[in-house]
Order: sequence, then structure tokens, then C-alpha cells
Amino acid sequence: MSKNYKITLLPGDGIGGEIIQVAVAVLEAIAPKFDLSFQFEAALVGGAAIDATGQPLPSETLTVCQQSDAILLAAVGGHKWDTLPSELRPEQALLGLRAGLGLFANLRPAKVLPQLIDASSLKKEIVEGVDILVVRELTGGIYFGKPKGIFTDEHGMRRGVNTMAYTEPEIDRIAKVAYTAAMKRQGILCSVDKANVLEVSQLWRERVTNLAADYPNVKLSHMYVDNAAMQLLRYPKQFDVIVTGNLFGDILSDAAAMLTGSIGMLPSASLGEPNTPGVFEPVHGSAPDIAGKDLANPLAQVLSAAMMLRYGLNEAAAADYIETAVMQLLDSGKRTGDIMAVGCQQVGCQAMGAALLEFLSSGL
Ligand code: NAD
Repeated sequence: MSKNYKITLLPGDGIGGEIIQVAVAVLEAIAPKFDLSFQFEAALVGGAAIDATGQPLPSETLTVCQQSDAILLAAVGGHKWDTLPSELRPEQALLGLRAGLGLFANLRPAKVLPQLIDASSLKKEIVEGVDILVVRELTGGIYFGKPKGIFTDEHGMRRGVNTMAYTEPEIDRIAKVAYTAAMKRQGILCSVDKANVLEVSQLWRERVTNLAADYPNVKLSHMYVDNAAMQLLRYPKQFDVIVTGNLFGDILSDAAAMLTGSIGMLPSASLGEPNTPGVFEPVHGSAPDIAGKDLANPLAQVLSAAMMLRYGLNEAAAADYIETAVMQLLDSGKRTGDIMAVGCQQVGCQAMGAALLEFLSSGL
């Protein structure tokens, strides 16, 4: 009997509808081959939800998400909603999803594809073969630690305060996500901190090290964040999985992403506790400048669907199959405008999707 998964689709705004349609077609195309079936349910989020209900994340949407096996999100936002008060802006939906689903781990792969190597701003010999996964803690650390605020002391001096804090369980759960991800990859884990200066990092390092015994096939190392930033530019091939806190991960995941040079190709995953639904979405936004023009690159969304299979549903073979088809599509020279190169053929979002389906149906 085939395995059935309930997938919530959140197309959101801008190019969302165009790209998510391609990802759904891809999932439907591979389902029979892997004995899977998908039950899709679309829900409103972001600006589209504001227009229909006044709320960026209506409670019905969150409920549908909570009852599903995984959530495929496109992107939210656009100029139309830019003047709304911040608590009613489309982007609030992302925070609501994180809180409502307990998403504490953000996975951002940065893989340099040989076909797109010239898109990187670094030299070919530095970035060739780079395949990094940054695992960032998402709901703790300095963005959430207390006390926080701008305070005035008895002399009238104002002082801005944020607190970087992690509890042992917070560190353990993100470390376990990273170790598990490393086991599904090359088995090399680098934990990034600032343990030479910060006590919170000393606890981080201690806990991550303690867990190493549970993952004997993973090779653990530690690196200070300033060195990690340098190493990402100097010799990025040394990394497989990087695990780090919220602030360091925010910065390093963007730096790692830029090694690839192509925003239309980058997927991401946000995960909570095991057996709870994760959210899988492209790194890029809703691209209102190209929405409705059939110009969007659907591949970040398609690769997000592959991440959903790998990290959300534990269907690695199906994820591999999609990723291989994407490589073949790029080999064939078809490109959307954002990744166009000399000698390639420029096509729109729909044609890119149709070409991908041909590779998938050819059996690869
Ligand atoms: P953006 O990522 O939407 O676009 C930046 C540039 O990249 C644009 O020129 C766009 O056309 C291009 N681009 C992005 N995705 C592409 C794709 N798939 N194919 C081809 N080109 C693509 O960032 P922005 O312009 O700063 O933001 C637009 C809106 O998206 C804003 O409202 C912002 O708040 C929102 N946003 C949402 C998310 C999210 O939903 N997770 C993330 C970032 C930005």
C-alpha cells in the first residue's frame, strides 16, 4: 500500500502561485514511482490572507498546517502591504508559523552546481564542489533572550540591551537535528560558536561535544565564528554540516548562500520536534517585480519539495530523484532569466517546469 502524506500548500504572494504549481506537478509525477500519494490542501497566508481575512496568518491556516505532515510554502509580501503596521504585515505570518509549529531548526543548504559555477562571485577553484548545510537555531539566542530593550539608568543614560542565552535542552535539540542531518550527508559536523569569549558558547560547546558519543559515525569539530566566516571564503569545501546559534547562523547562512550566487536556486527547511510538520520554502522572497510574468525560476521551490521529502518525510530516494532531474535539466541548457548564461536557452517558469517533468518521466 502506498504511503499517503497530507501536504499543506501556502502559495502566499507574488510569484508564489506560479512556482508552487511546478513543485506540486513534480511531486505528483514522482509519487507513483516511489509508492507515495499526496493529499494537497491549499491555505491562505501573507498578503493574500490579509486581503481575504485581515490577518496574515488566519487561525484556520495554522490549524490546517498543524494537522498536516509537512508544509510547502512559497513566499509572502509585496508593496501593497508595506504600509501596514508591522504586526499586520505579511511577514508576521512567518513568525506565527514558527511559533505555532515550534520550528526551532532552520536548514539552509548551499550547494554550488557545476552548471552555475560562473554565477558565484568567488573563483571557480574555490567554490567548485561546495556542498554545505547550515543548521541554524531559530527560536532562542540573542533575538529572544531576556532582558531586552532600551533602558534609562538613574543618570539618564540610555542603554540598549540584548541577552544571548541558551538552555541545555535548547542546545541539545538543535545539535541532534544537526547530527542527524550529518548522518544523511558526509558525516562531518562543525559546531560554530564564540567559546573563547562567551559563556553561552562554552555551554553550547560542552553540550554539542557530549552528544558526539551518540553519533559515532559523525566527525565533530568546533570553530570560532570569526574564523568560520573567514574559512567560508577561503576554503568552503572543508564544510559539510555547520551547526550554530541564531545570530551566528543568520549571518553565516547568508554568506554560505552567496557562494552559490543564484538566489532562485536555494531551498530551506524549518523543523520542529521529530514527527511534527516542518515548513519547506525557497530562500528568496515573493519577487513582486516579476510576478505574473512567467519569469520566475521555480527550482528553489522544487528543491524545497525535495528537502521536504528528505528531512520532513524521510523519503530520501524520492528527494534524490528530484535533485538528479534538476541537474539534468540544467545540463540540458534550459535556464530562466535569473540564471541565464551564454550558450543556454532562456525559458519561462512554466516551460522550465514542463522540461523538468520530461526528465522525471524519462526515468532519468
Ligand atoms: P526577493 O527575493 O523577492 O527578490 C530579490 C530579487 O531576486 C528580485 O529582483 C527578484 O525578481 C529576484 N528573484 C527572487 N526570486 C526569484 C526567482 N525564483 N526567480 C527569478 N528571480 C527571482 O526579495 P525582495 O525583493 O527584497 O522582497 C520582495 C518581497 O518578498 C518583500 O515583501 C519581502 O518582505 C518578501 N520576502 C519574503 C520572504 C519569505 O517569504 N520568506 C523572504 C524574503 C523576502
